[in-house]
Amino acid sequence: MMKIIERIELVMGDITLEDADAIVNAANSRLAGGGGVDGAIHRAGGPTIMEECRKIGGCPTGSAVITSGGRLKARFVIHTVGPVYRGGGRGEAELLARAYRSSLEIARDRALQTMAFPSISTGVYGYPVKEASRIALKTVYEFLKTNDMPSLVRFLLFSQSDLETYMAAFKELA
Ligand code: ADP
Repeated sequence: MMKIIERIELVMGDITLEDADAIVNAANSRLAGGGGVDGAIHRAGGPTIMEECRKIGGCPTGSAVITSGGRLKARFVIHTVGPVYRGGGRGEAELLARAYRSSLEIARDRALQTMAFPSISTGVYGYPVKEASRIALKTVYEFLKTNDMPSLVRFLLFSQSDLETYMAAFKELA
């Protein structure tokens, strides 16, 4: 049995280049596209992803939906919606954990082996990276304990500083 910790990887890079079964998009609840990683995924993946998003219509905060990967190397995009950070007293932590869990559940239910997450909510949505990284890693770690799939979860951090913050949180895990 592979140790849980060995099923989690942290790397710096651009998630749109990932060759995984699914990459996760930090979307908004209207699935309307936007800046940040969302804009980058739609630009790289082409218009079919947005067409599918329009048909789905929307996604409440903490939930996730799946589309094809369009022109991306990844076969699928899982769109999840993290919370906007408003000081931490409005259920943000639980909503952020739910966004990760919902994405993992979709991957598991589709029997996807590999998936890649960006740092959800820590861009425009303002979630402090240190707190968010702890929630992200803990949620993934706990999920992998009780689920064989996905077999590998990679975090694609977009800056050296984010990578270091996630690495510190990773060390607190086991
Ligand atoms: P949110 O609205 O959930 O905060 P953002 O897209 O604004 O989402 O930011 C989430 C994180 O994604 C930020 O750390 C941002 O730097 C990062 N990011 C932006 N573009 C990419 C990309 N191409 N690959 C990976 N991460 C990215």
